[in-house]
Amino acid sequence: MFTIGCHLSASKGFKNMGETALSIGANTFAFFTRNPRGGAAKAIDEADVQALIELMHEHNFGKLVAHAPYTVNPCSESQKTRDFAHMVLSEDIKRMEYLPGNYYNFHPGSHLNQGAEKGIELISAMLNDIITPEQSTIVLLETMAGKGSEVGRTFEELKAIIDNMKYPQKIGVCMDSCHVSDGGYDIAKDLEGVLAEFGRIIGIDKLKAMHLNDSMNPLGSHKDRHAKIGEGHLGTEAFINIINHPKLKDLPFILETPNELSGYAREIKLLRENYQG
Ligand code: FE
Ligand code: FE
Ligand code: ZN
Repeated sequence: MFTIGCHLSASKGFKNMGETALSIGANTFAFFTRNPRGGAAKAIDEADVQALIELMHEHNFGKLVAHAPYTVNPCSESQKTRDFAHMVLSEDIKRMEYLPGNYYNFHPGSHLNQGAEKGIELISAMLNDIITPEQSTIVLLETMAGKGSEVGRTFEELKAIIDNMKYPQKIGVCMDSCHVSDGGYDIAKDLEGVLAEFGRIIGIDKLKAMHLNDSMNPLGSHKDRHAKIGEGHLGTEAFINIINHPKLKDLPFILETPNELSGYAREIKLLRENYQG
């Protein structure tokens, strides 16, 4: 099944996101679990969540890919910043259980001056403190562009975190096309090679979702500036290859391109028309 959607605003509640997704031809979506800059989460309206679950069922939605706020940094050198990350991640993962069996994606963080190894250790310790074997939510580490001291630019760094997990079945990876290209993996011209590398280092079964973004910058630029599909250095054909690849074609695809809803609707239509199943 082709599962495609985009980032939607959660401000009007859960059912509203489902209806908005339908109105633009989507059958999944991403949303920030709270304000992307952090802050308190709204109380869960259980009836509203139930209405979304029914809508998703009725319209054959794929898995949702929620996104943690950007301010979460589990490997900061500041204890206060790490405490905040711990609070947000643990609260959000509990809240995700109202929508059982979906994905919760986060940026592994920036190690600042501590080095990637220390960063990996801090991230792993925090995840092990939060993730329970009972939870139905799978936590996804996002592949990063390698801006500043971001952890997760290389598949090896992500693998090191996964290897430290007490409950590895509760963790996966969300591959962001802009980030991997900016990180130095040539997903546009060598998709096969990048997936083979991912398979060799991490294991392809750990790849659970894709963020589809073109990049304003060339391969290896470490910038993380998203472009609309076909308007960046990756190009439309790269995305047609990604959505049709036998190892990827059944994953949820989430657009995080700089668009209003009408722009997302156009990109969803373009990709749907080029999906061969
Ligand atoms: Fe992200
Ligand atoms: Fe992303
Ligand atoms: Zn990004």
